[in-house]
Amino acid sequence: MSLLVVGSVAFDGIESPYGKVDRALGGAATYFAVAASFFTHVSLVGIVGDDFTAKDAQIFKGRHIDTAGLEKAPGKTFFWAGKYSQNLNERVTLTTDLNVFAEFKPKLPEEYKKSKYVFLANIAPDLQRDVLHQVKVRPKVAALDTMNYWIERTNAELRETLKHVDILMINDSETRELSNEHNLLRAAKHIFTMGPKSLVVKRGEYGAMLVDKRGVFCVPAFPLEEPHDPTGAGDSFAGGFMGYLAGAGQQNDTALRRAMVYGSVMGSFTVEQFGLDRLRSLKRSEIHARARHFSKLTQFKL
Ligand code: AMP
Repeated sequence: MSLLVVGSVAFDGIESPYGKVDRALGGAATYFAVAASFFTHVSLVGIVGDDFTAKDAQIFKGRHIDTAGLEKAPGKTFFWAGKYSQNLNERVTLTTDLNVFAEFKPKLPEEYKKSKYVFLANIAPDLQRDVLHQVKVRPKVAALDTMNYWIERTNAELRETLKHVDILMINDSETRELSNEHNLLRAAKHIFTMGPKSLVVKRGEYGAMLVDKRGVFCVPAFPLEEPHDPTGAGDSFAGGFMGYLAGAGQQNDTALRRAMVYGSVMGSFTVEQFGLDRLRSLKRSEIHARARHFSKLTQFKL
């Protein structure tokens, strides 16, 4: 089933205790699309500048990713830089340059408008809403990610966009900031009054939690001895989650639980190396092997 994503395609500057890169290909939609393409066909909407070369675009080639909706405009590609703490659990943003995204007016290719699954990856909330409204028939699942940058600068626009989505997928600090609640279950209740019926809280090395009217489901993060760079782990989680749902064509409780596991699997691969390096070399067989490992990791008898 078709999965549409809009979000940043970017160059990132990353500093972690394991190394530093000044300019690596990244962006929420890039990580999402690559991760999701292991499970389903992905239609990408975004914009890059004229500094984005054919070599950069190679990341989307040979995968099930349609880039008809990736516009190229004069100017610079979105640039973000961040620095991680020693234990990789905290990150500070050093730079956010919207560049070509500041004036982006997306126009969906005709075939994208039939998408049944839509993911509004991290980008300006009015842009997310614009893309969602161009999809002709109400998607089976519309999910959204955002971050403190948008929660703080464009809160009213974000609230408006949230009215139209089914699943909100954000990290724990964003959950607390958006809801003004410290406790994640109380935060979920509050967020349900904003529109979404389900909340997925991404909790870094502590895994992820799905809250909906049926209750709570938790998955751990895959225990890694040598994590290197958490950049894009949340977007890769979302790619695994939405990619699995779209591939399965279902969103019952079993499918949602499996989607949580595949999300965690994809996030865990991303942190193993810098930027997109691990996803570039990843094989489908490795994904399924790790999902089986997850099953063993979490089984117990009562
Ligand atoms: P994650 O580590 O999953 O939270 O996502 C990291 C990616 O998000 C990076 O590749 C950045 O290019 C992108 N990013 C950072 N800040 C923003 C923002 N304000 N809007 C859109 N994308 C962003």
